[in-house]
Amino acid sequence: MKAWSCCDYGAECGLIVFAETRGKARSEAMQHEGFDCSEWKDVEVRRLPNLDGIRNEQCALSWWKNARIYYEAGWRPQPETIGCDVCGLYEFDEFPESKVTETDDGMLCASCMAEAVKEAGK
Ligand SMILES: [Zn+2]
Repeated sequence: MKAWSCCDYGAECGLIVFAETRGKARSEAMQHEGFDCSEWKDVEVRRLPNLDGIRNEQCALSWWKNARIYYEAGWRPQPETIGCDVCGLYEFDEFPESKVTETDDGMLCASCMAEAVKEAGK
């Protein structure tokens, strides 16, 4: 499925969306929770051909679970957002599983910390 960037620069929000057409991408973005734009005409939709085919169904990628994809597509979080040094996951208050903790090895999310503990135990 084709990848699209849907942005509202006025509201400073944006999403990576997968859809067959520009119009479907825009409506998918506007239905997505956390996408604050309600004006159809304010959403700027651009193609992201490098990301085509990552998803096969129409959907919007959640930022926090797909931080690495967003990062590689050139998106940057708010400066105050803390991210995992290993996998790039960003911390969001709404998602306890995204909690990032400061450790001797840097800032780590829960799953990377579990990996690090496992590695250390070997
Ligand atoms: Zn991580």
